[in-house]
Amino acid sequence: MPNHATLIIGAGGLGSCVAMALGTAGIGRMTLVDPDTVALSNLHRQPLYMEADLGASKVDTATIGLQQTCVNLEIGGMMLELTELDPLVALAREHDYIVDGSDNFATRFLANDAALHANRPLVHGAASGLRGQLMTILPHRSTCLRCLFDAPPDSITPTCQEAGILGPLVMEIGWLMAMEIVKLTEGTSDLLTNRMLTIDLETGIRRHVPLARQSDCRGCSTH
Ligand SMILES: [Zn+2]
Repeated sequence: MPNHATLIIGAGGLGSCVAMALGTAGIGRMTLVDPDTVALSNLHRQPLYMEADLGASKVDTATIGLQQTCVNLEIGGMMLELTELDPLVALAREHDYIVDGSDNFATRFLANDAALHANRPLVHGAASGLRGQLMTILPHRSTCLRCLFDAPPDSITPTCQEAGILGPLVMEIGWLMAMEIVKLTEGTSDLLTNRMLTIDLETGIRRHVPLARQSDCRGCSTH
């Protein structure tokens, strides 16, 4: 596997699964970014953490655990809340790919905009309740988040806490996000671009929802 570098935004459920999958697949380098500490309420969907880790930094815990499992992995962790575009663009430029496993719309749009500015492919994923989704964004070549929504919504109903997130759903979405990165490293063109894969674990139905770039997109048409 080539020594590509992946920036993983969010070390919660999705970020944990992506990091584990990429680490064991032999993806050479990765950086995890997350401001949070390990909490009891989400241990069930975050397989990198155990009860003994409660209160510890997620990125520190994940980094130590992954280094023990994946001996050739170069991994770094940043306990950091991402709120500004410029630092994230600079960080993105130090990596080949970006994974967005964050849990809020503000960070998702920040990741989208940083990918566009830094010209780095971005794999977006989200999960709530029994439903999840993922898509890959090739900057200025395929549909971006702002083609779909001009701006992040003020709030979502229900919240992740209210809806709950099932562990197996997070793992399935996370594995598929990691697979998009593997495909990017291998140069395959069969990516989840210009479409969103939605998965409903209640019905077992998967859909590929076609997406189109918007010529007046505030994100990808102006840079
Ligand atoms: Zn766009």
